[in-house]
Formats: sequence, structure tokens, C-alpha cells
Amino acid sequence: MPGPPDDCLFCRLVREGDHVRADDGFVAIADINPQAPTHLLVLPERHVDTFRDVSEFPPEEASRMLAFVAETAAAAGLTDYRVVVNVGRGGGQTVFHLHWHILGGRPMGETL
Ligand code: AMP
Ligand code: ZN
Repeated sequence: MPGPPDDCLFCRLVREGDHVRADDGFVAIADINPQAPTHLLVLPERHVDTFRDVSEFPPEEASRMLAFVAETAAAAGLTDYRVVVNVGRGGGQTVFHLHWHILGGRPMGETL
């Protein structure tokens, strides 16, 4: 299987970024261009291009990734928030290392 691209921004931020939280294979960072008062990104340390390939995670690791997303939101003081994954260019994805957006701190409304 091919490894991660050498120039992956999020692989670099996993290695040397400012981590809001980190635990066993996952890190959370603040989004550089926040779309809400709280806008965090959860990155798996494992490089997977997109959510399309989420089955590359062993089930136990995929399950821990979801728990890490929820725990990161709770640790940020959020009870009500939105979790977004943009999938592919047409889905709005601009960085091709799987990541989960956590958006909160304002009413998110009923529409996407
Ligand atoms: P997406 O469009 O879903 O691929 O999301 C990529 C996100 O990464 C965007 O919300 C960007 O603002 C964010 N981003 C890009 N570069 C950085 C960076 N150096 N540090 C933190 N967030 C970043
Ligand atoms: Zn990567």
C-alpha cells in the first residue's frame, strides 16, 4: 500500500502542530480559518486520504476515532455542535488527509 504523500499538511501538523488534544492515534487542532466561535479539526495520525477510505481503519480504531471526536467537543465545553466531514473536492474537501470538523459556540441552524 502506498504511504502518505511527503507533502501532506496534516501529517506535518500531526507531527509538529499545536495540539488542543492528543490521544493514542488522534489529535485535535484549531482550524486556522474558523467558521464558528469553536472550530476544531480532529486528525487521525494514520494518513487516509478521505472518509471514502474510512474502512482502512481497523474497527477498533474507527470506533476510538468517533469517541475522540465526541470527547474533544465535550472537552471544549460544547454540548450542542456540528460534526462535518467534507468528502472529495465536490464535497468541499481541500486537504486530503481525513479530518472531522467540530463547529460550535453559535446556533448552527437547521440547514447545512
Ligand atoms: P476541508 O475543506 O474540509 O478539507 O477542511 C480543511 C480545513 O483545514 C479548512 O477549514 C482550513 O481552514 C483548515 N486549515 C488549512 N490549513 C490549516 C492549518 N495550517 N492549520 C489549521 N487548519 C488549517
Ligand atoms: Zn496526511
